[in-house]
Amino acid sequence: MAERNLIGGTWAGGSGGETFTSFVPATGETLDTFPRSTAADVDRAVAAAKDAFGDWRLVPAPERGAILFRFAELLRAHKPELTDLMTREMGKVKAEAGGDVQEAIDMSLFMAGEGRRLHGQTTPSELRDKFNMSIRQPIGVVGAITPWNFPIAIPSWKLAPALVCGNTVVLKAAEDTPKLAERFVELLAEAGLPDGVVNLVQGFGEEAGDALVRHPDVRVISFTGSRETGVAVAKAAAETLTHVHLELGGKNAILVCDDADLDLAVDGIVWSAFGTTGQRCTAASRVIVDRAVYGELQKRLVARVEALRLGPGWEDGVDVGPLINAAAVEKVDGYTRIGIDEGAKLLTGGERVSGEGGCFYRPTVFADVEASMRIAQEEIFGPTTALIPVDGFDEAVAAANGVRFGLSSSIFTRDVNRAFRAMRDLEAGITYVNAGTTGAEVHLPFGGTKDTGNGHREAGSAALDVFTEWKSIYVDYSGRLQRAQIDNVDS
Ligand code: NAD
Repeated sequence: MAERNLIGGTWAGGSGGETFTSFVPATGETLDTFPRSTAADVDRAVAAAKDAFGDWRLVPAPERGAILFRFAELLRAHKPELTDLMTREMGKVKAEAGGDVQEAIDMSLFMAGEGRRLHGQTTPSELRDKFNMSIRQPIGVVGAITPWNFPIAIPSWKLAPALVCGNTVVLKAAEDTPKLAERFVELLAEAGLPDGVVNLVQGFGEEAGDALVRHPDVRVISFTGSRETGVAVAKAAAETLTHVHLELGGKNAILVCDDADLDLAVDGIVWSAFGTTGQRCTAASRVIVDRAVYGELQKRLVARVEALRLGPGWEDGVDVGPLINAAAVEKVDGYTRIGIDEGAKLLTGGERVSGEGGCFYRPTVFADVEASMRIAQEEIFGPTTALIPVDGFDEAVAAANGVRFGLSSSIFTRDVNRAFRAMRDLEAGITYVNAGTTGAEVHLPFGGTKDTGNGHREAGSAALDVFTEWKSIYVDYSGRLQRAQIDNVDS
């Protein structure tokens, strides 16, 4: 039995006795075996987290932050090992895998610093000899449910703020990247977290994930994943009025204006559309191009895309790794068929790469895409981008906004007026000017509008709002009962 759930400081197997396997998407090889946890395992993990909360919430926040500083140091020391493991288990290329780990280092350092801030407010009172303030308080047990595409970074986006705020956590990481989740939690424990403050339950979404969402002792669910799962999570959490924080999908657009630096725009498109094999929530899956530069952009883009080197992420010189699994290859290929059937023009790619069982798909560019087509509306989550020709800036913004999602956006222009209009009018949580749609920094809020989420933000100090509740405190030092204005019937 694989003893790979961390519950109350002890590594344990799953109670049901069943296991599942993690694979190397570049080769199809088996990597490792993990417990397929049940609701009973989740129950034990939540009980351990609830028990640990009593003390952890009283540990001074700077001390909690100091543990995160040590965690960041451990991540830095283990960065080569984690990077290599990520190229194997998740598949992203070496440089990007290192970036994923780096993001967790940065987030842990940033949130460690929050241990000495966690600012509340003091404000004047309506009355004499009275002091008012509001403070942030931890909420309790947080259930963190994460996807596989940033297997170290995303757990850190959730756990670092949750912990520094004084909550305890049960992590249910993605079933495609369980080994990375295990290493993440091992290092957190090694950094000095008391037993039970962080717990790990491996397994599937509909089993362990659903049980975590429905557990009455879980006070917050922080979820990153697809829109469909996000809706299911929100519904399941409604019964217990659990706080739900959702970070969901995207259909992010790059606008290329008639005055854009085209070489720079092509750099931005290639990096944002095909980095991480298009498997980023912020990936540029649409490129909205002014007709004045449409022909030239196509030519330069296709030349660059066809020069991209595919291969296993651990090899030097590889630009694009595999997709996460065979189902993802099927899905991406299905969208190629849909695009062709809809009448879009396939410029390059659109096929699997045959080889040693790896999940490789050629970087794919469609042209003459209409903004209403399915390949321009639905999240493909693979190396496919759609070029949409438009006439002028206003049409470009309307096309960009004409999707259900609102995560990231970008504009290439040299016109400062257009840039500012885009910053104001693009319906997205993130807008880049003269850069692609990816590349978030940890100290700014991260998240999206519309169907990308439910209004919360990850990262930056905005993340603290997910993991704390406000308490307002009134201290009267007048020595007599003073009534506030609402109760002062004579005034
Ligand atoms: P997914 O929704 O299939 O799975 C995400 C997690 O939810 C996994 O751990 C899974 O086991 C779990 N899960 C599945 N069903 C569940 C259920 N019924 N109850 C509870 N948990 C359940 O998503 P994925 O394929 O792992 O990730 C890709 C998606 O994530 C894309 O849509 C992408 O855009 C999105 N994403 C969003 C962000 C963001 O910050 N907005 C970041 C990365 C990825």
